[in-house]
Amino acid sequence: MAARPAPYLDELNPAQREAVEQLDGPVLMLAGAGTGKTKALTARIVHLLNTGRAQSNEILAVTFTNKAAREMKNRVGNMLGHSIEGMPWLGTFHSVCVKLLRRHAELVGLKSNFTILDTDDQLRLLKQLVQAANIDDKRWPARQLAHLIDGWKNRALTPDNLPAADHGAYNNRGGELYAQYQIRLKELNAVDFGDLLLHVVTIFQKHSDILAQYQRWFRYVLVDEYQDTNIAQYLWLRLLAGGHKNICCVGDDDQSIYGWRGAEVGNILRFEKDFPGAHVVRLEQNYRSTPHILAAASNVIKGNECRLGKTLWTDAEGGEKVRLIGHWDGEEEARWIGEEIESLQKGTRGMRAVGLDEVAILVRASHQMRAFEDRFLTIGMPYRVIGGPRFYERMEVRDAMAYFRLVVSLDDDLAFERIVNTPKRGLGNVAQQKIQTCARDNGVSLVEGARLLLEEKGLGGKGAKELAILLGGLDRWRRQGMVRQIEVPLDDDAVIDDAANARVTRFQDSPPELSHVELAQVILDESGYTAMWQNDKTPEAPGRLENLKELVKALEQFENFQGFLEHISLIMDNESDEGEQKVSIMTLHAAKGLEFPAVFLPGWEDGLFPSQRSMDESGLKGLEEERRLAYVGITRAEEICTISFAGNRLVFGQWQSQMPSRFIDELPENHVEVLTPPGLYGGGFGAASAARPVKSNLEERASRADGYNSPGWKRMQARAGQYGTSQPRESKNTIIDLEAVSSFSIGDRVFHQKFGYGTISEIEGDKLSVVFEKAGEKKVVARFVTASDD
Ligand code: ATP
Ligand code: MG
Repeated sequence: MAARPAPYLDELNPAQREAVEQLDGPVLMLAGAGTGKTKALTARIVHLLNTGRAQSNEILAVTFTNKAAREMKNRVGNMLGHSIEGMPWLGTFHSVCVKLLRRHAELVGLKSNFTILDTDDQLRLLKQLVQAANIDDKRWPARQLAHLIDGWKNRALTPDNLPAADHGAYNNRGGELYAQYQIRLKELNAVDFGDLLLHVVTIFQKHSDILAQYQRWFRYVLVDEYQDTNIAQYLWLRLLAGGHKNICCVGDDDQSIYGWRGAEVGNILRFEKDFPGAHVVRLEQNYRSTPHILAAASNVIKGNECRLGKTLWTDAEGGEKVRLIGHWDGEEEARWIGEEIESLQKGTRGMRAVGLDEVAILVRASHQMRAFEDRFLTIGMPYRVIGGPRFYERMEVRDAMAYFRLVVSLDDDLAFERIVNTPKRGLGNVAQQKIQTCARDNGVSLVEGARLLLEEKGLGGKGAKELAILLGGLDRWRRQGMVRQIEVPLDDDAVIDDAANARVTRFQDSPPELSHVELAQVILDESGYTAMWQNDKTPEAPGRLENLKELVKALEQFENFQGFLEHISLIMDNESDEGEQKVSIMTLHAAKGLEFPAVFLPGWEDGLFPSQRSMDESGLKGLEEERRLAYVGITRAEEICTISFAGNRLVFGQWQSQMPSRFIDELPENHVEVLTPPGLYGGGFGAASAARPVKSNLEERASRADGYNSPGWKRMQARAGQYGTSQPRESKNTIIDLEAVSSFSIGDRVFHQKFGYGTISEIEGDKLSVVFEKAGEKKVVARFVTASDD
């Protein structure tokens, strides 16, 4: 058979082509950012299809984000020149594992409609277990246990194979609680994120016939961003590719940024041992970035000791230097970036006009996003937030989803707990305790427990009445949303079922009474949840109602609740791909593998980036991971890369003064241009550093180390008063107090360094009366307490 034309091969350089055409056996592509690893991996898929080596459903291809998976799918279609019939097994580790687990759930004691818990639910569950075990969760926070369990799951350790040393964790109770937690999850017919992989690995390990079936099925295995796989993922891959060994992994050790989540860069180094004779391909030519951007990235990553070391080169020429700018505060930074984007749109500095889709803002911490969201809303600049389901983490959205979850599965106790008294139904702690006990004694779910309790008249008054209404509602909503099976009698060819001695009827699906979108609205209204926010007089209430609308709208894209809930549990990105051009805002972690002509990297400040935690840690591990993150950030940029920092930042309602990031020191002078923002910083350190190259920032860092007494900073403060939004901030202290107070309300739970946890009972200017759990009632200054979510 004559080979089909393969124009996609012509677009590759010889090394890439080698990786693509070497179809059989293990292949490892180890290369720096922007060298075309993903491109080659995609071409490999196309080549497999084009040469008839595999059908689209015989290729297992894993990426790290849904966005990356979607892009890869599109590109495969484009390269082939015709659309492909799905690639059902191209997705993230998690999405592929959900599919596998739904098929074999019963093998690990689950039903196939299991719920996927998010970290919030996980924590709630663990708190209950910790409490039941009589452990003081002040000393041994449940969060710590959650972290341990995640770590074990990432290492593919089940309670049964937990090493002795790990059992001793969490005050010698770690192993025991882990086992209890897994049992509880099964009772709830639920899994957490780590389980998705762990259960599938367990199934493969215990059922060789099933493994063999998938080994045959997935004839070729491909993995992008291999440097970020954890041990469980690695085992999973090794099991699946163990038969034919047709596995191709691509990665870059310099971009390993998920160490904190158990990723093992060692997996790359081990590849050649696990798959002897592996074909290793190295790529060095970068096709993405201008020489200045590449030089900046290379210089920063050079600071890491632990790396394989690679050279990158580009034959591109020219381009702008990386730009560096300091701002008064985070709001100012957002304002300036907004204006910059507007001028990029028009075409500035002799450059072409840049579209909004070509611009990305990459932040270190998601709380940085708010300033940009606010600013862009104000100036009407379309944007999308990618990475981290911010929207779905909001309280009202989570409440609403708990209702939906319960309608999907009455076993979902965590969802029930969340909404049983939201809105208030007179079902406080005592009533809830009774429901819990009744459920436990009878070995049933909380919903069932509540039903029994009512039957036994174990609850009285308003609570009982309201609970009956809620339970009635749940039944009704389930009915209204159910795909009903209606009986259709068979006509002439009716068969008599001997055993039952009855006419056999056929069942046929009939659409539910209400679509899931209509049902969502009905649930929110009939449960009283919408009314709860309508009657709420706090300033946030209208926004919350907006979000609920948004949520119902989001449901439209899905076939049913379950599909939607699954999507939410799995999304790494919540952007919709509608026509309008938008600026992308996302975390550096979510930006992995992506590229944009113009990239803004705000918040390069010590304590933010690198993170405080990495700076506090002994040893270099954390700091080196942060540096890799800086490298990932810079190498996302194709043409324009702008790094910025602010002197003041509002973090969780508190003003903090910031120092420029140590990574700024590591930028190469010759490739960086220091900018002076117009007006505000004319005489401040902006001008000083603009007059001299980057080093002056370092001097400035030193001069600012003793706080805000340096002459440069004072000058800057004085000038700030002349300038727009900065005007009210003449005295830093006043601002701190006002801001701190406004972020609290009576009833908030707070933490104070000296007095511990307490609840605000009164607010008077910047003074708060707080009833502390241990120290009793005290008056404290607002800025000395922080909001506590514990
Ligand atoms: P990262 O490490 O950031 O994930 P990568 O190695 O996966 O990067 P790609 O995203 O595949 O790199 O490629 C970077 C850019 O270079 C893309 O725009 C891609 O189209 C382009 N590119 C890759 N290879 C070539 C090539 N041989 N000729 C021209 N352009 C190429
Ligand atoms: Mg890539």
